[in-house]
Amino acid sequence: MKTISILGSTGSIGKQALEICRLHPDRYRVTALTARASRETLFEQVREFRPEMAGLTEGFEASEIPADLSFCRFVGGREALRAAAAEVPADMVLVSIVGIAGLAGVMDALGAGRQVLLANKEALVTGGHLVTDLARKAGKPLLPVDSEHSAIFQCLQAAGPNPAERILLTASGGPFRTWDPERIRRATPAEALRHPNWSMGAKITVDSASMFNKGLEIMEARWLFDLPEDRIQVLVHPESIVHSGIVFRDGAVLAQLGQPDMRVPIGYAMSYPERLETGVAAPDFFALGRLTFEEPDEKKFPALRLARAALRAGGAACTVFNGANEAAVAAFLREEIPFGEIALRVERALDRLAGLRADSLEEIWEADRLARRI
Ligand code: NDP
Ligand code: MG
Repeated sequence: MKTISILGSTGSIGKQALEICRLHPDRYRVTALTARASRETLFEQVREFRPEMAGLTEGFEASEIPADLSFCRFVGGREALRAAAAEVPADMVLVSIVGIAGLAGVMDALGAGRQVLLANKEALVTGGHLVTDLARKAGKPLLPVDSEHSAIFQCLQAAGPNPAERILLTASGGPFRTWDPERIRRATPAEALRHPNWSMGAKITVDSASMFNKGLEIMEARWLFDLPEDRIQVLVHPESIVHSGIVFRDGAVLAQLGQPDMRVPIGYAMSYPERLETGVAAPDFFALGRLTFEEPDEKKFPALRLARAALRAGGAACTVFNGANEAAVAAFLREEIPFGEIALRVERALDRLAGLRADSLEEIWEADRLARRI
């Protein structure tokens, strides 16, 4: 029996992690759950999984707690994340919050010596050096949940002592892959939220349409696998069956395949090094017939070029890339700016804030704040 605390339990990843817990009640006991504002969903989850602590980071009143949930300690505000990450006993902490808000949770969990299952890529994008340092010191390597990084992690397990020469990071290409640039520029939130293969939260779905998600994932891979950006190659693979792979010096490639269903990488992080049932079947290759690959179109999707430039620039550039993108995606979802403006705003923030440092958490918050303002 392992205990698990879930930061962001009401989101797409959090709910799927709870599905795995539901499938294996003899293996997992939930000790803490947190959400930002989705109180009804959180209350339902508390009722079913009976954690000892639950938290709402926004607008929470103790008087709202339903009478039948008095067995659970409710915590409000930012303190909720710290309590769930570091105070409540847990063998594993799944960080499935969206955005840079995940960074503090990851640092707190690692500081308390917890095994972190990492869905929140923004923590590595913004604080990669601090997070990986702390994980190394704690002797608790991060277990990736992001499907591509889980795939690479699985391939590296199989590779034994042989190093990867290169990473092949696959990308679906999103819903606008075949659109012309003018149509992409004017795309609406409803169009951007229609992902061809994956069902995910709103922010990452927009990031998939703009390919900023793949830019963030290059940064995530750089920290998880300690490879420079020029050894991380992006491969557009519209079927999302090959989840990523590694290339060896002898020319051999190992890749991990499966249906595009996050329960597989979430389940693998939860049961590592074992494999448990996840409720997902293997792909039906006869039905699929063929798998295709394309080179990414960096003219239509500037995100990859900007991400690589930010990685090469170092300092706070990746935090600026992330913060400007988070703010621009939120503005796009509120229909305040067109889709095409997202990359332009991020590029402007990177230009204006060149040279900022990110040696401490305070410098990272400050770079994030300045980037959002632009
Ligand atoms: P969702 O938007 O579906 O869920 C986010 C969760 O975090 C919710 O529980 C939400 O609470 C909570 N939350 C949001 N903002 C804050 C905040 N500022 N402080 C505290 N809690 C907050 O996101 P996803 O599940 O799609 O994604 C989560 C993370 O996993 C992201 O970093 C994403 O990049 C990554 N990821 C997701 C994948 C997916 O398939 N969804 C795939 C790979 C990676 P509330 O419900 O109250 O708003
Ligand atoms: Mg991914």
